[in-house]
Amino acid sequence: MRIVFIGPPGAGKGTQAERMIATYKLAHLSTGDMLRAARDAKTEVGLKADRYMSTGQLVPDDIIVAIIAERLQAPDCRSGTLLDGFPRTIAQAEALDRMLADKGTPLDVVLELQVPEEELFRRLAGRGRADDKPEVIRQRLVAYRQQTEPLLDYYGKRGLLQAIHGLGTVDEIFARIKEVLDPLAG
Ligand code: ADP
Repeated sequence: MRIVFIGPPGAGKGTQAERMIATYKLAHLSTGDMLRAARDAKTEVGLKADRYMSTGQLVPDDIIVAIIAERLQAPDCRSGTLLDGFPRTIAQAEALDRMLADKGTPLDVVLELQVPEEELFRRLAGRGRADDKPEVIRQRLVAYRQQTEPLLDYYGKRGLLQAIHGLGTVDEIFARIKEVLDPLAG
């Protein structure tokens, strides 16, 4: 199974992603986690990425695509992959299409976790990560609306998009995700 997981910052993707990888035995490819690890290890890529992350902007596509292209080669991606936080731009989505076509393993589904904006602010303000300052949160939401939301149409037109209502308990939301994924898991 190859799944793309889309949602605004603060929607709770990380929490649901943990449940999904455990239940469906997927490799978890979180570009946010990979970038934070690179930043903390002070690699060249990590230090460059940090300049964008710390201001709430998206890291340039070429950096992200290179990271994902390498990660997709790993053996654990063969059984199934959860792409969490990637793609975030149309150019990244097109690059992903090419990579998956080369491997002969197309996407099965794109999940969009939907949460109203007031709730996102409330959750992010309580979280305390370095990029969770109010002005950085605002910029991340702007980046989501301008650069990532166009993907909903991109995948919707191909019949891949499934919206998941993102309010409720963690269990309630995961049950909604399972309703979509169980039939695909076969
Ligand atoms: P959130 O969804 O809460 O914003 P992430 O952990 O997914 O958090 O991402 C944190 C930051 O990492 C983003 O604000 C952005 O700067 C960078 N980033 C992560 N994934 C991508 C991506 N696919 N393209 C560009 N930048 C990314």
